[in-house]
Amino acid sequence: MTDTPRPADLDRAIGFTLPERNARGRVTRLGPVLDEILSAHAYPPPIERLLAEALTLTALLGSTLKDAGGQLTLQAQTQHGIVSLMVCDYKGGELRGYVQYDADRLALLGKNPSLFAMFNQGYLAVTFDQAATGERYQGIVPLDGDSIAQAAESYFLQSEQIPSLVRLGLGRDAEGRLIAGGLFLQHLPEGEEGRERLHTRLDHPEWGHVEALGATMGADELADSSIPLENLVWRLFNEESEVRVLAGAELSRGCRCDAEYITQVLGKFPPEERQAMADAEGMITVDCAFCARNFPVPLSDFTASPL
Ligand SMILES: [Zn+2]
Repeated sequence: MTDTPRPADLDRAIGFTLPERNARGRVTRLGPVLDEILSAHAYPPPIERLLAEALTLTALLGSTLKDAGGQLTLQAQTQHGIVSLMVCDYKGGELRGYVQYDADRLALLGKNPSLFAMFNQGYLAVTFDQAATGERYQGIVPLDGDSIAQAAESYFLQSEQIPSLVRLGLGRDAEGRLIAGGLFLQHLPEGEEGRERLHTRLDHPEWGHVEALGATMGADELADSSIPLENLVWRLFNEESEVRVLAGAELSRGCRCDAEYITQVLGKFPPEERQAMADAEGMITVDCAFCARNFPVPLSDFTASPL
C-alpha cells in the first residue's frame, strides 16, 4: 500500500476576510507558472529566488485588484546595484517578470547575497492601473530591509498608511523545481478601503492580534504544495469567530508582447536608424525582455512613406 499523494495546490490565489478584526488577506502559491517564467531565462539561483519572491508578491497584490482589466506592476531598480532592474506585472491572472543584472559582479557575492548587496540603494515602485477608470496610482519606497517582503510592508505603510504583513516562502518540489508561497494581511479599520487616511495605528489591538497570528506562518508551509491554500488560512485563524474565504484567482504565465506592436514601434524610427539596427541580411531582431522571445522583422516590411 502506498499513500496517494494529495493533489498539489499551485498557481492559485485566494482572498479572505476577518470581519470582526477588520482585516483582509490573500494567500498564493506558484509552481508551474514560476517554472515557465524562469525557464525562459538562464538565471543563477540568487536571481531565480529574487524573481520568485517578487512574482509571488505580484500575485498577492495583483489578485486584490477588483477591476478585472486592471494591472499591477512591481518595479525595483537602482543606479549602481548589481541588479539594475527587476520588473513583474499582473493582469487578469497573468504574471510575467524579468531581471537585469551584472552576472560577473553577482558571482563575487557567493550563494546567498543579501538584498542590499544585490540592489545597494534601490527603490521599489508599485503601480496600480485601473482599466475601468483609467486611474493610475504609484508609490515608491526605498528598497531597504532584508527582503522584498519587508519592502512591501513599508510600501503599504508609507504610501497607503495601511498596516500590512507580508510573508514569502520558497521551497522545491520532488523534482527540484521552485515552489513559492505568500501571505498578505492588511488592517482596514471601519471597513476603510481608501488610500487617504488621517490616522494610522500600528498598535491597534485588532491588528496586533492578526499580525501576531500571521507571523506564525512558516515559509515551509507556504511552499508546501500538499497543503491547500484554504487550510493555510484555517491553520492561522481557526479560533476567530468568523473567517470568510473569497473566490480564488487562477494564475498563469502570460506575456503581452506582439509582433505587430513591435513592427509599429520600429516604424517610428527614421529609416537610417532602422538600417543601423538590422543585421547583414536586413533583419532587425527584437527580444522581449519578459519572455525572451525573438521577433525578427525584415527591413523590407517598412516601405517608404508616401510623400
Ligand atoms: Zn514577451
